[in-house]
Order: sequence, then C-alpha cells, then structure tokens
Amino acid sequence: MERKKMVVGNWKMNPLTHKEAEKLFDAVAKSLLWVKKTEVVICPPFLYVEKLKKLSRKIFLGAQDVFPGDVGAFTGEVSSGMLYELGTRYVILGHSERRSFGESNSDINKKIKGALVVGLRPILCVGESARDENHGYFSLVKTQIEECLAGISKNSISKVIIAYEPIWAISSTPGRKDATAQDSLEMAIFIRKVLSDKFGKDSGSLRILYGGSVNEKDALEFLKNGGVDGLLVGKASLDAKKFVEIIKICEQSSK
Ligand code: PEP
Repeated sequence: MERKKMVVGNWKMNPLTHKEAEKLFDAVAKSLLWVKKTEVVICPPFLYVEKLKKLSRKIFLGAQDVFPGDVGAFTGEVSSGMLYELGTRYVILGHSERRSFGESNSDINKKIKGALVVGLRPILCVGESARDENHGYFSLVKTQIEECLAGISKNSISKVIIAYEPIWAISSTPGRKDATAQDSLEMAIFIRKVLSDKFGKDSGSLRILYGGSVNEKDALEFLKNGGVDGLLVGKASLDAKKFVEIIKICEQSSK
C-alpha cells in the first residue's frame, strides 16, 4: 500500500524567543520549494504557531501535547479544539518525556480520542526504555499500542501515525546508544502485525515513523532499511540545514 512519506520535527521546549523561532522556521520553509512527495510537519511550542503559520503553506504545524477536554475549568490546559482553531493539524502524544511526568496509556488514549474528534492527527509515540535479552520490549510496545488505541474505530485508524522511539536511542537520554535500521525494521513489522490483528486491513494506510537521534547521516539508512514511512526528528530539527537535508533525503527516497 502506498503511504506518503513524512518528516516531523519536534522542537520540544525550543527556542527561547519568537524571533529565533521565526528565523529557524523561515530558513526551513525557504528551502522546501522542491518538496512534493514528503509531508513536512513542525511541532514548535504552541504559542509560536500563530506567527509561524503565516510563513509557509507547505509545512504543517503540530502541537506536542493536548488536554483531552473541550473547554472548561482546567487551569493551565489547552484543548484539541483550541489547537485546531490555532492552525495545528497534528499533535505528538505519548512522548517519552511526557510519559516520564506520569502520563499513562489511559491518559494518552483520552487525548487521542479528543484529537480525532476535532480533526487533529495524533502522532502516537511508543518505545521501550531499554532492551532485554528476553525481548520483553515487544510486549511493552504491544501494550502501549493496544491501550493507547483502545476504542478507536476502524474508520479513524488511518488518521493515526505511530512513531517508534526507543528511549535508549533518543538524544537527550543519558548514555544513549545508536539504534540500527534493523532494530527499527523488526519493530515496524511487529507494530504492523499488532495493528492488523486489532484493526484489520484498515490499518494498512497508517504510517509508522522512526525517531531517536536521526540525523542527516543515518536518515537514508532508516528510510531504506528501517521499514518506516518517515522520521520523527528532535535535536536535528533545531538546525535548519540538517533538517532540510533530512527532508531532501526523504524526498529522494520516495518513489
Ligand atoms: C524525540 O525526542 O522525539 C526525538 C526524536 O529526539 P532526538 O531526535 O533528539 O533523539
């Protein structure tokens, strides 16, 4: 099944000012006139979205979290409806950095449902913190997928994107190690099987991404041999040159 390739930049809590955010975004946007086959998404801190959305029609904007409610007495929170209204079309959910604050699969499930109702596409992050000899990480990822996607209809499943992010390979993990395209391939095949058992053929159009210290040097290897439809990029997305190079590699690797 033909699935459009995608590259997602997760800026996390960067940069510090609007000015820097616009400079970085603009540098990427200006270099993307040739992009046809790759969907490019940038997820900045949401308060930058209002200005950034005016700088490019090619780049989709995404958020990095959302509250499952609609409106109401939820101090400090922002809802899916508000993010959609603001101009975002994607939302990263279940990122390991948020899970480390205590977010559970059940919390993430509520957020995914709320996002889908308003038309925001969830990018669900799954992945293990370490690998064990008994391959227990497969069942951990299976549980994450089953619990986070519980009650999602077959009609909605193609709107979800799954990002496999082994936490041990993410750039901010102390003592991190490189994951290989083979690690990604094995997990991508496994995730497809879990999805197909749960959602049948409707899951065939769902995209799976790899994320974990991807850079311009290893992007091609993950795209060619990692069994994925694109990449979720953290640190390297804060460097316009590197990020554009990764998008270029993705574009060239698309059929
Ligand atoms: C991430 O944390 O989502 C990520 C992909 O980060 P990095 O590329 O910096 O490892």
